[in-house]
Amino acid sequence: MNNPYHIKGPALLAVSGGRTSAKLFKKVLDAHGGALPANVHAVFCNTGKERHETLRFVHEMEVRWGQEIHWLEWRDRRKRTPVADRFEEVGYNSAARNGEPFKALVASKKAVPNAVQRWCTEHLKMQVCADFMEAQGYASWANVVGLRADEVRRVAKKVAQNEEGELPWKSVMPLFQAGVRKLDVRRFWFGQDKVDLTIPATSLPQGFDLGLEEWEGNCTKCFNKSKALLLWDVRRDPADALDWAAMEDFVGGTFTTEYSFHDLMREAERSPRLPLGDDFSEFDAECGIGGADISIRCGRKAA
Ligand code: SF4
Repeated sequence: MNNPYHIKGPALLAVSGGRTSAKLFKKVLDAHGGALPANVHAVFCNTGKERHETLRFVHEMEVRWGQEIHWLEWRDRRKRTPVADRFEEVGYNSAARNGEPFKALVASKKAVPNAVQRWCTEHLKMQVCADFMEAQGYASWANVVGLRADEVRRVAKKVAQNEEGELPWKSVMPLFQAGVRKLDVRRFWFGQDKVDLTIPATSLPQGFDLGLEEWEGNCTKCFNKSKALLLWDVRRDPADALDWAAMEDFVGGTFTTEYSFHDLMREAERSPRLPLGDDFSEFDAECGIGGADISIRCGRKAA
């Protein structure tokens, strides 16, 4: 049987900053003797609203596994701009941390994205990846994405997209082919079926980890997170909530039809600080892995 992790270039390997795509990255590296072929590019797209743990995790992958990851950020440059100038390559130290790419996109669109019009993923991640590959001179390529065997519906969408053939890339899903499920990803990082952030790094199978609950990844207060999760996060980091509220104020719109960030902040002030009651462990966040599909992993709504 062919090794699904052996990738035929040209290819782009999407590193989202979550555990699933990180495992995929390591398996592909191993399949190639520890280094990606020259025409296989690992890419991380930074929105500027990522948690600092995510940035550290991506950086740690590069350092520990000895393979460069291209850190890319969207720039507000019109279509007539050459593809190579529509994004900027940054690094761990220079990566935006105050939402700059995200805010520039909101300013350019004069609107905020929402669960139905999820153009933030499309512009800040999907288009940046495509521009990067075109800038390398590829007319077509494989998109290596971390969809798992327990994500059959999303995999089916990718297969249908491949068959339509309207995009310059074809999606390749090695984790799905290898039968990898969410529990396998947890075992890879924790050596057990559960996420346990109290395990010291030295006792972890890989020697490091993301250090976040599964639903905490990607943009800090993504509108795809449930109200309960957002409220919890507003209490934890009110300054960041103000930043999201400022984007809403700027365009006169809201990320969610039911409430604004000002509503969430008022509610957080009124209601007691309670622990998260529900089991949110099923709600993982890895935006951009599968595309701009609105139901793709992005800290899916719990309610
Ligand atoms: S994590 Fe949420 S807010 Fe951030 S790019 Fe993805 S969909 Fe948009």
